[in-house]
Amino acid sequence: MFSMRYPNGLKKAITLSYDDGLVTDVKMLEIINRYGIKCTFNVNYGFLNKDDFVYPEIKRENMWTRLRKSHAVELFKNSGHEVAAHGFVHKSLGGCTVPEAMHDILHDRECLEKLFGTVIRGMAYANGSYDARCAEYLPKCDICYSRTVDRTGKFDFPENWIYLHPTCHHDNPKLMELLDSFLNEDFGDCKMFYLWGHSSEFEVNNNWDVLEKFCAVAGNRDDVWYATNIEIFDYKKAYDSLVYTVDGLTVYNPSGIDVWLNVNGESKVAKSGAVTNLV
Ligand SMILES: [Zn+2]
Repeated sequence: MFSMRYPNGLKKAITLSYDDGLVTDVKMLEIINRYGIKCTFNVNYGFLNKDDFVYPEIKRENMWTRLRKSHAVELFKNSGHEVAAHGFVHKSLGGCTVPEAMHDILHDRECLEKLFGTVIRGMAYANGSYDARCAEYLPKCDICYSRTVDRTGKFDFPENWIYLHPTCHHDNPKLMELLDSFLNEDFGDCKMFYLWGHSSEFEVNNNWDVLEKFCAVAGNRDDVWYATNIEIFDYKKAYDSLVYTVDGLTVYNPSGIDVWLNVNGESKVAKSGAVTNLV
């Protein structure tokens, strides 16, 4: 049997997910970029500020100050980070009618797509609110994954990407312990460490050092794939789409992504669009 590896034969991936499109994302980017760590930023288009908006002083009562639209483009577009939906006006989907929920998501998608010139496919639940109906209507909105706030303390792929549970929030007192076990244990299979939060929390709690310490250990390593949420989703789907010959010795990769496999302890690449002999 063959098993999945991340690009370059790696077994570990780290991804971040930060919400609301806040002015404190500027400092967050400055830190994570130094360590080569990738983040998905979940943005409410309806709350982004106009381009002539003057940012107030960053303090507790202003902690939810949103980025100006043009500033968000300057920060995120072509940055290697991902922009995902978070509801046009941050509605709690669990309390919405289905049309109301779909409107908040599709309106957000549509406006973000125009602003960033891209296809928005991921999201995070505003206020962490979701229910069983989301699995029905989110795929119809072309949302392929959505992050909850239900921490697992684990590093597994979700059973259903519409309920993508993070490993932990950055305020988890066991953050560095979890990171340590993630980096140092050999799990055999591919795993991901998934961290979420709001960048403004670092500012108002005066604990940017939590992010600095996390990145100093987690970042710039040869044994970790740093990827956005959608990159991990797409990679896993590409792996799942592989088709093998009946004897299992040859593989066809119909996806647009090269997929790395572990074949009897060796890394092999199933090239995009090609047929590859594995032994
Ligand atoms: Zn939010």
